Amino acid sequence: MKSIQESCPDLLRTNRLSSPKTSLEVQVQRYNEEEGTLKGNDCSLCKNKGYIMILDEGYTALQPCECQKNRQNKVIIERSGMKGLIADYTFENFNTKEMWQRIIKEKAQAFILDQGHWFFIGGQVGSGKTHICTAIVNELMNQGKETLYMLWRNEIVKLKANSMEGPEYQKTIQAYKIVKVLYIDDLFKTEKGKSPTTADINIVFEILNTRYQNRNLITIISSEKNIKELIAIDEAIGSRIFEMAGDYCVQIKNNDRMNMRMRERNLYEQIP
Ligand SMILES: [Zn+2]
Repeated sequence: MKSIQESCPDLLRTNRLSSPKTSLEVQVQRYNEEEGTLKGNDCSLCKNKGYIMILDEGYTALQPCECQKNRQNKVIIERSGMKGLIADYTFENFNTKEMWQRIIKEKAQAFILDQGHWFFIGGQVGSGKTHICTAIVNELMNQGKETLYMLWRNEIVKLKANSMEGPEYQKTIQAYKIVKVLYIDDLFKTEKGKSPTTADINIVFEILNTRYQNRNLITIISSEKNIKELIAIDEAIGSRIFEMAGDYCVQIKNNDRMNMRMRERNLYEQIP
């Protein structure tokens, strides 16, 4: 029987001519020059493979490329349902002409720095509530946190269209209960003159109470209603939001000249 060297003289010659280090370097170079198939973020470092090959003490190793964080964040944004909002609603373009607007922005940025868990902003229509909440949520998504956006008036209709015992309802409500960051926009917004139904209240309670019990989760809520009005709708819901948001419970009210001003937590008792 022939030896491998006799069968493949070329292989023998190649092995003799190239040192192991050189062949590894070639392997690294080939890998790093190869084009990958990842989409959504054109990266010149990894050529869209997500990894870069390095030589580490005589061995090759793959290390994640820095673009992976951006790719993951893009996936998080896609899944969150907020893709259409985040470009328009940033901290940078939040209107801060008036003092109350500057205070809101400072509160929101302090919430991020303090790694707060619940943020509530309630009151005046058109005062930038969705804007500031979206800016907060965008920062959290950039930190790699899984996020879901719940535009309350739309999602509540969809949830109620499914049987509460059915798999579709359970799947959706479970996602709202356990996602790292949940943003409920326009909580309890109803048609003019109508109050939230018992079913509306029960669904919100189910979601918020689970999140109340798991203190690691982050919940952002905006509403046209202030805390006192939320407590009037359902005491358990309103009081949980008030308790959990703490210093990050922001309420905006019209003044006589129809300018908005901000009322903070300590004004809660004074709101008529
Ligand atoms: Zn890359």
